[in-house]
Amino acid sequence: MPTPSSPGAPAAASSGAASPATRPLLDVSRIYLEPAAAALPRGQQVLARWPDAERVEVASHWQIPELHGNQANVARWVRIKTEALVLGTLKSLSARPNGRSSDFIAPSSANGCAMACAYCYVPRRKGYSNPVTVFTNIEQITGYLARHVRRQGPKAEPNQCDPQAWVYDIGENSDCSVDAMISDNVADLVRLFADQPTAKASFATKYVNRDLLALEPRGRTRVRFSLMPEAMAKLTDIRTSPVAQRIAAIDDFVAAGYEVQLNFSPVIVADGWLAAWAELFDQLDAGIGDRARRQLAAEVIFLTHNEQLHEVNLGWHPRAEEVLWRPELQEPKVSQNGGRNVRYRSGAKRGYLDAFTALAAERLPYCRIRYAF
Ligand code: SF4
Repeated sequence: MPTPSSPGAPAAASSGAASPATRPLLDVSRIYLEPAAAALPRGQQVLARWPDAERVEVASHWQIPELHGNQANVARWVRIKTEALVLGTLKSLSARPNGRSSDFIAPSSANGCAMACAYCYVPRRKGYSNPVTVFTNIEQITGYLARHVRRQGPKAEPNQCDPQAWVYDIGENSDCSVDAMISDNVADLVRLFADQPTAKASFATKYVNRDLLALEPRGRTRVRFSLMPEAMAKLTDIRTSPVAQRIAAIDDFVAAGYEVQLNFSPVIVADGWLAAWAELFDQLDAGIGDRARRQLAAEVIFLTHNEQLHEVNLGWHPRAEEVLWRPELQEPKVSQNGGRNVRYRSGAKRGYLDAFTALAAERLPYCRIRYAF
């Protein structure tokens, strides 16, 4: 993790307090709760884990202005991520078709994250600090998923998501490794999929939570460790596990019965970027064993950034914006929800993609690239 004096350290987010890098990931002192969510067994479990935390009743986890809607929170948002949790219920259950990383996006069991990656899209919907909201109606969520899996029947055709199983992304709006430190929601999902011969859970993570090794996924949960060159991670992956730790965890997760894949993401184009990835690939190659290699695959995702997030980041971590916001390399792209995104210009991006995938093929010939964009 970066330290306040390291080149990768972000600007201090609050004067006189611990920096975002040194603050513990979770030190919960206030729990905002929808009363009905708190009454459910999963809500009770979270409250019992932090019995001294102040409890604040809210009408809806979507509307907590002091957490979500106040731009002035930029200076405090990492502290809020550390100290606040929210208990809510997921009101509308649906599994959205995806087809890229997974076949379906599962209904979320949480929303928000205690980490603070500068490029993260997760806060865009709830805004700013976005601490973890735990959805406590987990029995409804797992019940819905079990029925959805049953309705699909066996997968007839292999696709880029998986040759045999229907893949459900269970971590679209949070990081499941951190969620598993807060409640048993992720453990429940891993257990559910362990019994599904036709389906798998999948989630990307930037955090190593070794408690997950005690679960029994039986090959039906895919953990995708997100990797990027260490120096870039120190600059942009704030509060995450160091990249070397993520690599060191791969063999252990394979041994525990997880399918382990990788997300090379986001790929950020900057001076020396390809040489830094070559070094990372060599570090990875040296850090994993044959069993991990035999089942390895990866997704490659080049950076997409967002104008609104750029403005917010300028208030707390302007150094990251020097690599994330590069108008001379990027072109605008209006997202489905109307957000003003930028991505690398399409002509140049083709070249970046080709160079990246050729490098991966040379250094990690056993690692299938499931898709790259
Ligand atoms: S770990 Fe993932 S969800 Fe959390 S801040 Fe980083 S990119 Fe966002």
